Parts: sequence; C-alpha cells; structure tokens
Amino acid sequence: MEYNKIIEKFEDIIGKKWVLTGKDELIPYSKDETSDASAIPDIVLIPENAMQVSQIMKIANKYLIPVTPRGLGTGVSGGALPVKGGIVLSLERFTSILEIDKGNMVAVVEPGVITGKLHAEVEKQGLFYPPDPASLDSCSIGGNIAENAGGPRAVKYGTTKDYVRGLEIVLPTGEMLTPGGKIHKNATGYNLIGIIIGSEGTLAIITKIILKLIPLPKYRVDLLIPFQDFRKASSAINKIFETSIIPVNIEFIEQKAIDALKAYIEEDFPFSEAGAHLLVGIDGNTKENVEKEYETIGEVCLNAGATDVFVADTPQTKERLWKARRSLHDALEKKSRVMEREDVVVPVSRIPELLNFVYKLSEESGFEIVPFGHAGDGNVHINILKMNTPEGEWVKKKEKVVEKLLRKVVRLGGTLSGEHGIGIAKKRFIHISLSKEEIELAKRIKKAFDPNNILNPGKIFE
Ligand SMILES: Cc1cc2nc3c(=O)[nH]c(=O)nc-3n(C[C@H](O)[C@H](O)[C@H](O)COP(=O)(O)OP(=O)(O)OC[C@H]3O[C@@H](n4cnc5c(N)ncnc54)[C@H](O)[C@@H]3O)c2cc1C
Repeated sequence: MEYNKIIEKFEDIIGKKWVLTGKDELIPYSKDETSDASAIPDIVLIPENAMQVSQIMKIANKYLIPVTPRGLGTGVSGGALPVKGGIVLSLERFTSILEIDKGNMVAVVEPGVITGKLHAEVEKQGLFYPPDPASLDSCSIGGNIAENAGGPRAVKYGTTKDYVRGLEIVLPTGEMLTPGGKIHKNATGYNLIGIIIGSEGTLAIITKIILKLIPLPKYRVDLLIPFQDFRKASSAINKIFETSIIPVNIEFIEQKAIDALKAYIEEDFPFSEAGAHLLVGIDGNTKENVEKEYETIGEVCLNAGATDVFVADTPQTKERLWKARRSLHDALEKKSRVMEREDVVVPVSRIPELLNFVYKLSEESGFEIVPFGHAGDGNVHINILKMNTPEGEWVKKKEKVVEKLLRKVVRLGGTLSGEHGIGIAKKRFIHISLSKEEIELAKRIKKAFDPNNILNPGKIFE
C-alpha cells in the first residue's frame, strides 16, 4: 500500500490532529536526554487508548514499519530514538491516574503519568510509591517500567520491578494482554510482567499499569556527611550496613561534582571544601527510632573518618539537599555538553575498588571523570567529560576508556547498567556483561514477541 494511504489509515484511527508529519513537528521527537544522539522519525502518532495502539500495531506489523514507543523522552541510553526511522508512538496522552485503591494498596495508572505526580497523589492519602529517579518531575511511569528505573530510595525500597503487580500491554503484532492484576502473589505460568520490565520498549507497548503501594513512613531525616576523600567516604558505606540499619538512600557525591554544582546553582553548598560526601536518608514511623538510627549512623561515619554530620530535619533543609542532588546531572552537562555517562553497578563492598580504578583511569587518560550516585546500592554514575577534547581524539580514546571501565566492573562482579538501560548507548558493549548463550536466548525471546522485528529495532543488541 502506498505511504499516503497508510497515513490516512492512521488518521482514521486517532484523528488527523494526532498524526504528525511536518519536519518541525517531528524534531522534538528526534531527541531524548542522551548526550550527542538523535534520529528523526518519518511520522509521530499520539494515540489516546490501548485499542488505538493495537490497531496501529496491526498496520505497522502488516507493512513492516518500525515503531519506537516514547514516554516523556528523558531516557539517557537512546531508547526512545527511532534509529530505523518509521513511527514514534508517543504515550504522552495516557496521563490518567485511574484509581488509588487503598483496600488493595495499589494504584492503577496510564503509562504517561509523570512519576512525581503519582508520588504527590498517593502521598495525599498516606500511601507511598518509593521508586524515585532523579528525573521524577519529567519522566513517565511507562518509561520507568521499560527501563526498570531506580533512584536513591532503592537501597531500602528496591526499584520499579518491585512495584509492578499488573500490566496491560499491546504486542508488536497488535494483540492486547493483561498479565497479573491487583494480586500479591502469582505463580501461574511464566512471569510475563518480569520480562516486560526493563525490556526498553522492544517487546511490547505498556498501556496500563497496576502498581503496589505501601504506607508512607511518618518521619524522615537526611544526613549530609563530609569526608576528606573518596576512600574514607566509600569505606564508610559498608560500616553503615554493618549496623543492620538499612537507610533509605546512601548517595555519594565527590568534590568535582560539588564544584560543578556550585557553578550551576550559583550558591554555596554545605562543607563544599570536603573531598567527598555521603547523603544518607533514614525514615520510620516513630521520631525516637529515626533519631536513634541517625545518631548511630552519624557515630559510625565519624569513626570512619567523617569530619562532620549535618542533620537536615526540616522540609526546607531536606529540599535544599535534594534539589542540589537532582541538579548534578544538569550541572555536569553545563560543564561539558558532551559526556559519556556510565551507569555501572557493582556489589556494594567493591565500591572503594571501583572508585580507585576510576580515578586512576582519569589520570591515565587525561579525561575529567566524575563519579556520583547511588552508592548504597552499588550503582555509581561515572561521567566522562569531553570538555575541549577534539572530536576525533574524543571518539577514539573514549571508547578504550569505557571498555576498560566496563571490563573492570564485570571483574568486580558487577554489570553495565543499573537503571538507565542499554538502548543504543551501550549495545556495543553488552557482550562484556552477557554470555553468547544469554544473548542468543534473549534474541529468541524477542523473536517470539516480535517476529518481524518492528518494535524498537536497533536497541539493546547489535
Ligand atoms: C536529569 C536526569 C536524571 C535521571 N535520573 C535517573 C535516576 O535517578 N534513575 C533512573 O532510573 N533513571 C534516571 N534518568 C533516566 C530516565 O529519566 C529514565 O530512564 C526514565 O525511566 C525514562 O522515562 P521516560 O518517560 O522519559 O521514557 P523515554 O525516554 O521516553 O523512553 C525510555 C524507554 O522506554 C520505552 N518506553 C517508554 N514508554 C513506554 C511504554 N509505555 N511502553 C513501552 N516502552 C516504553 C522507550 O521506547 C525507551 O526505550 C534520568 C534522566 C535525566 C535526564
């Protein structure tokens, strides 16, 4: 069928207004937050319900048109970029929180709901949805599921995968499925939900989600703990766990990140002369317990070489620290528009070795490398800044530096990505982490879901 006739079919399904073909309309869908990457679609479709998604997929599958699902475009591994052209299918109109069911402790939501908006709505009812990617004010729940997003609170509360009870999905061939439900337990057949979580929009389009909620803890305190250097800070992390207290988060921020942050927010940061900081959160249901736990953690850190402990226990002080933490990504981007962002994860006990290796790599390569992030769950973001490195030298040298880093991570018992996914950004390195057999099996799974390879082709695997 000719191209214009196919467009007419899409217009019949979702209405002319929601079929974008003009160059200016397509450009916003050609980028996400991945540094230095873009790909322009031929057409953008913005449906509003699962039935429309199903009809679109049937046509795309019949005429072998690539379809790239898109949430809100904050991904940093290029998952939402239509690298093979074709359709970008945006879920931006799926914005309803359909139900907050207190009796079953679940929320039923559409995939385009902004994560931070869900937090605010459930918290009004004394409930809690813990996954908190730093992009929570601008990313979608659908994108979070597709990437198995995490956040600082993963140390105590886990990641997105721990909260998905049920899904409505549309397969690349157009069939609609509803695995799971408002149920706690499910041992009926294969865990289809498990395979969709983290599949980066390559297996199915998520059109509805049932999320587990838990009671909102009543008290929370954050500690900002400065250390002279990264060695002392990173070795304190294990000492914290030895107390058997599980903090909500343990974030690691080192001096170069703080310097970039100060330049970005144009104000000072507490203990900004320190070599490294830990940002430790503690929550609970009684003030006494929270106080007891933060005193213990403060003491352990002081014994491990901390130079001070700043207790943020008012909404204003807590917000100041978290606003700063969430600005780190933008602060580094201001310093170097192009950077290579690694999202590696290692066993928590191996973090000191990882950081040692990163600083040596920085010295050897001459690149400024800034690590920060969720050290409490072993997921450290390692940012290699291009700064003024000439393009040719950057491309050649950076590849070697990244490969060296990733091989070290795997030797430490870790893996390539803790939460950002593989997308296009890391697919050339996936063999470092997965065996040939694992990759072959994954490709067979992809074929079972998507026999014509039309859904988000060109992602995860070469
Ligand atoms: C400043 C900043 C901070 C960040 N901090 C974190 C962090 O702390 N933790 C973290 O995990 N991530 C973080 N991220 C990365 C990003 O926000 C997450 O990956 C997020 O989950 C992406 O959601 P999105 O709606 O923007 O998805 P998009 O970028 O639009 O898409 C991401 C992937 O999901 C797929 N997808 C989207 N919606 C659907 C759907 N409904 N069905 C099927 N597939 C779909 C897309 O095809 C793509 O592969 C950060 C990003 C930025 C820019």
